[in-house]
Amino acid sequence: MKPETPRPVHLKDYRPPAYLIDKVDLDVSLHATRTRVRSRLQVRPNPQAGGRHGPLRLDGEHLELGEIGLDGRPLTKKDYKLTDTALTLSKTPAGPFTLDIETFVDPQANKALQGLYRTNNVYCTQCEAQGFRRITYFLDRPDVLATYTVRVEADPNETPVLLANGNLVERGMLQGGKRHYAVWRDPFPKPCYLFALVGGDLAPITSTFRTMSGRNVDLAIYVEHGKEERAAWAMDSLKRSMRWDEQRFGREYDLDVFNIVAVSDFNMGAMENKGLNVFNDRLILASPESATDATFEAIESVVAHEYFHNWTGNRITCRDWFQLCLKEGLTVFRDQEFSGDERSATVQRIIDVRQLRTHQFTEDAGPLAHPVRPESYIEINNFYTATVYEKGAEVVRMIQTVLGAEDFRKGMDLYFERHDGQAATIEEFVACFEDASGTDLGQFKLWYSQAGTPELVVALRYDKDKKTALLEVEQVLPVTPGQSQKKPMHIPVRLGLLGANGHDLALKLENGAELADGVLSVTKRRQSFRFVDVPSRPVPSLLRGFSAPVNVTLDLPDDDVELLMANDADLFNRWQAANGYAARTLIEMVGKSAGGRKAGRPQRYARALGAAVASEELEPAYRAELLKLPTQADVARLIGKNVDPALIHRAHRQLSKLIGRTLGPLLEDLYVTMAGKGDFSPDAQSAGRRALRNAALTLLSARGTPEDTARLAKHYFKATNMTERAHALLLLAARGGPEAAHALADFHERWKGDHVVIDTWFAAQAQSPLAGTLGKVKALMRHPLFALTAPNKVRALIGTFAMANPLQFNRPDGAGYAFLAEQVLALDRMNPQIAARMLGALRSWRALEAGRRAQARKALQRIARTKQLSSDVQEIVSRMLEA
Ligand SMILES: [Zn+2]
Repeated sequence: MKPETPRPVHLKDYRPPAYLIDKVDLDVSLHATRTRVRSRLQVRPNPQAGGRHGPLRLDGEHLELGEIGLDGRPLTKKDYKLTDTALTLSKTPAGPFTLDIETFVDPQANKALQGLYRTNNVYCTQCEAQGFRRITYFLDRPDVLATYTVRVEADPNETPVLLANGNLVERGMLQGGKRHYAVWRDPFPKPCYLFALVGGDLAPITSTFRTMSGRNVDLAIYVEHGKEERAAWAMDSLKRSMRWDEQRFGREYDLDVFNIVAVSDFNMGAMENKGLNVFNDRLILASPESATDATFEAIESVVAHEYFHNWTGNRITCRDWFQLCLKEGLTVFRDQEFSGDERSATVQRIIDVRQLRTHQFTEDAGPLAHPVRPESYIEINNFYTATVYEKGAEVVRMIQTVLGAEDFRKGMDLYFERHDGQAATIEEFVACFEDASGTDLGQFKLWYSQAGTPELVVALRYDKDKKTALLEVEQVLPVTPGQSQKKPMHIPVRLGLLGANGHDLALKLENGAELADGVLSVTKRRQSFRFVDVPSRPVPSLLRGFSAPVNVTLDLPDDDVELLMANDADLFNRWQAANGYAARTLIEMVGKSAGGRKAGRPQRYARALGAAVASEELEPAYRAELLKLPTQADVARLIGKNVDPALIHRAHRQLSKLIGRTLGPLLEDLYVTMAGKGDFSPDAQSAGRRALRNAALTLLSARGTPEDTARLAKHYFKATNMTERAHALLLLAARGGPEAAHALADFHERWKGDHVVIDTWFAAQAQSPLAGTLGKVKALMRHPLFALTAPNKVRALIGTFAMANPLQFNRPDGAGYAFLAEQVLALDRMNPQIAARMLGALRSWRALEAGRRAQARKALQRIARTKQLSSDVQEIVSRMLEA
């Protein structure tokens, strides 16, 4: 077998399919090593394909072909051509016809976790993006929509639960009870990537939901036996999501049942298969003892996300994979809005923006930068990225900002009305907003095609005689791979001008133009806006609520930053001022550690932070966000070139220690007053108090006194919930010493029987900045609970080390990079998708200082030289080295 050289697929080459498949009947007889799949397809030539009526080429990989027949007549080998990737029929009837295909697959041997696989005795499928072709021969592309009837058969003792998409229509026993079967029918046409099937010995928790039109829907979440209670929060989240989508977007659920299944080995977080969502179990299972508040939040948000896909993704799907952001960006926007409504909108925005900057801005600044809608790919699995998801969501949010909430909703309504049951494109999506509002979004659409994070360079000049303020804006669009020339973008900038007393001044433009909702439309490369009747020198508060995914460069004196930190009416920007102040302080400290001068700014920053955090009218969750310093990765991104992660790490430690010392009494007070009373509740207010208490603990512990260490150990051992316990474990593991050893041993003892919770223990050790961490990580790979075949374990140990331990991963001797290269190559042989993900840890390698850069290049070249790489890894490594 000769591996083919993978070839890129281009958006401009899109053609409608030559054939359509309207109806699929599947009969799946489950067997651990030899599952038989019989598929009956109703096929017809596609009238949209211009009457072309050539060969029918069906995708198929890793399949054993059994019998095949056309309109009931068996076909022989001379009737078709079979390769490793396709089954091609050169002659087909002129009109509609029926094709019967029998295939055999080996679920047990499937370690790529795409198609049908078996893990912990559960049969499970993952078809997005191109897994269905590993189950049967098919037109595996999202613009082929069919209705499915699925019959599943298995051994009733080993596999009592049989699920598929849609509604259950029949079930029964066979062969005197040796086999049983279930038939599921999904009346809604769908692309094959939304197909799902599950079989296993699982326990359900059930509930019902009454929709806004009064229909009852049966809900069930299937988990491992004994874990039922831990699925209660996910069920509650599901019901709240269903209600919210009705109220906010008028979207009602359409089937009679909605099932969720939690499995332990899963490449992604979760998958929105029609009526049968499959979840990574770490995103379903939660109890106060076993899950942190962050996990509770993640469950709520991912359950909502997958549910919301029922309309944005399933009822309206993507024409081709280039349009992935059509379903993902939009659905992330919807889940962010849901979380903001369920919790604090401001805190949610801060969390989402932090996430965007850390992951997407970093991606945008390196060799893997690509547009929200890419124009070519080799392996589509490599484009499930922060850019497609998170930046894609920002683009939808900007449409809402530009149009206003009311017209935005009209546009969404039109989209649902016009495209229900279709496979749509970005152009069609945007046209709905243009048509509903009468706004031209032609220039705005560049957000979908131009990669890179725009920078707004801003200056404000005040004329005290004329009482005018001139805001000059220049947009700088950085060069990204394959895009050296860029057109100016349409950037919505929401702003305020603060007077000396910290209050907002009225915004009046000189031409009398209205500033709707305080939003300026920046559309030119250079543009200026003159505000009139400005009584005193104003302090600008730019990009309120983070109105566009851009960087702003504006040189404000510390006094002005402190005014914003204390007064900005926009709470997001108040946080932004504090966070930006911390970042510039850290960058100055990194610069000065080379020069050796003494800095006065850190003390000033710490005092301003103390004043902001002390104000009790702000909610605890928000104050906790104020106390969190920018991450080391954020500082590295802002420095941008010749990055020395060791210097950043040192500055980070020094600043944490200085804040801990300067604000000691305040932090100690918060630590005491924020302690929980009564029973645990996962609600946002209670979680906020725990977050503030943990944030105070982090800074207090940075002082490193014996009392601080004792407090930390006590926090661990006296914890009544996982939020406290896991946080203390992380801080202890970072310090080392007997207290850390004691806590780690205790955690292992408590949770060694739980494959979800034990990941916290792996991750805490992988994240430790102590010198021996790489050795420890290697040793932990031999731990009986670790397995390279389990994606969650790989992410917890190798992923945490490579992506969340900047000091030890970026060792100057290159041992961290060499280790990653070795693991990527080992993973690539069984699970290319996860291997390519792990390799992403090196995406910023070009920004490193020369020594580390050379080491990183060596590691990448070693991967690139390896023969028989998967197309996943080959594409990532070549883009990294090319750019
Ligand atoms: Zn999604």
